[in-house]
Amino acid sequence: SLSSVVTLANGVEMPRFGLGVYKSEAGEEVETAVRTALDTGYRKIDTASFYQNEESVGKAIRESRVDRGDLFITTKVWNDEQGYDETLKAFERSREKLGLEIVDLYLIHWPITETFQDTWKALETLYHDGKVRAIGVSNFHTKHIEKLIQSCDIQPMVNQVELHPWLNQQELHQYCKNKGIQIEAWSPLARGKKFGDPFIQEISRRYRKTEAQIILRWMLQKEIVTIPKSVTISRIQENADIFDFELTTEDLSAIDQLHTGERLGKNPDDID
Ligand code: NAD
Repeated sequence: SLSSVVTLANGVEMPRFGLGVYKSEAGEEVETAVRTALDTGYRKIDTASFYQNEESVGKAIRESRVDRGDLFITTKVWNDEQGYDETLKAFERSREKLGLEIVDLYLIHWPITETFQDTWKALETLYHDGKVRAIGVSNFHTKHIEKLIQSCDIQPMVNQVELHPWLNQQELHQYCKNKGIQIEAWSPLARGKKFGDPFIQEISRRYRKTEAQIILRWMLQKEIVTIPKSVTISRIQENADIFDFELTTEDLSAIDQLHTGERLGKNPDDID
């Protein structure tokens, strides 16, 4: 169901499915999206200081009747907010905008080479102080994680990366799995740019599910946490309607074969 969870390395439970709000405009647009999602049963929202909609996300959360304890809210420290002191300040800004006592998951948005180790120290402080329930990274490749692990006290619990059938991140996923780091997919629907693939369409017809639902279901069955974005009420509902069917092992591996390595977002290696 929509409330089903994965257990992170520190025992915290995180919903396997949630709403992304990148480019969802602050105000009415994102408030409606979050309200619709919560009414539909979503329990996890993924925002970032960079998205400039944390205040609206916080407002929509407060206005909903969902218990705070049932919600899982993620936000992220942006590139120009990194470094130890800067990150502590950035966190306070995010927390204030969201209007939350505690943030469920705080992520380093991108691995800025010069600062990400200091940034991580700040995340560890926030974790020790009980201001965040879990900490993690985003857009970290193996080399970034290796470097972080050399200097950290607490290992990241999550790595959120671009992941969809055309960039399935098999090696990074396996690496993270071995390290006890939960992988989470951003742009799970390839930003809507890959719909119409005849192969996914064929599967979609067989299961009587939409292409979006097939892709999201493939992720769930591969133990990838996912956060599709939409601001359209019917799509927010459609994307969540993936708990009443199961793809066969053959169909799962067939979708694995769609991988080409195509990226829609920035390559973390170009950040260095
Ligand atoms: P996405 O893959 O979720 O695609 C969203 C787009 O797909 C929508 O704008 C819409 O055009 C289309 N769409 C959604 N549902 C559909 C449906 N059912 N049918 C047809 N079209 C549909 O892209 P995204 O927003 O880039 O990624 C999801 C979330 O991941 C973001 O909102 C954000 O929270 C997060 N994210 C994180 C990073 C990062 O660096 N950590 C980067 C990008 C995104």
